[in-house]
Amino acid sequence: MRHCTVRCQHCDINYSYQASGEGCHEPTNDKDYCPECKQAIIDALAKIPKKFGKSTMKIGVPPEYIFHLKEKREAEKDPKGLHMKRVFACLYDWENGEHEVVGDVNGDGNTPHFFYHYWPSEPEEMSVTLEVEKDLKTNEVIGYWGNDVNQQIRGITLPEIPEFSEEERTRLIELHRVPLDPNYDPEKKNTFTTEMRDDLSKFSGLYYLDYKYDDKKIDTNDE
Ligand SMILES: [Zn+2]
Repeated sequence: MRHCTVRCQHCDINYSYQASGEGCHEPTNDKDYCPECKQAIIDALAKIPKKFGKSTMKIGVPPEYIFHLKEKREAEKDPKGLHMKRVFACLYDWENGEHEVVGDVNGDGNTPHFFYHYWPSEPEEMSVTLEVEKDLKTNEVIGYWGNDVNQQIRGITLPEIPEFSEEERTRLIELHRVPLDPNYDPEKKNTFTTEMRDDLSKFSGLYYLDYKYDDKKIDTNDE
């Protein structure tokens, strides 16, 4: 949890803005406006109805295509660059001791951003969704949800999926398969061990810098 002292861009008061952690999504917690001014903005905007809304759409994209895109994006990364990963919440299957893999990957060219989730014991059953924009008046899906300010991409054009050989398809899928642990005991399901937490970070990208530095002590060499 991170708190910062900032100055309100409207009334110039100094206030504390919560940049992360539980409570940071409160509507009046804003980095530019103090809670009082932010409330005034919220009240004023409440009179204007929303025109578009974000929605998700499930699409039939084969899992090997998503794994292929992930490999491609990895290869494009600048090894000296700053690498960041988006964090997604995932489900845990207490009966089988397995956690879901949830992630996102960018498509090629004008094709969009894909969101996916699957159970590691069956990567071939992956579910892929797109974030789409809906006209709230007609309830019609009109395009991808994104920062397309010029609105050049209208409608949904599904990506062109490259042909994968059977060998390549198997490689991509098997690379991501993690069989269920035969020794998992569902009776112990209420013990969420450190090991499980570490596992979770490995599979789903749930990795917090806060937690990484939790137990580290700074050695000041003081006697
Ligand atoms: Zn203010």
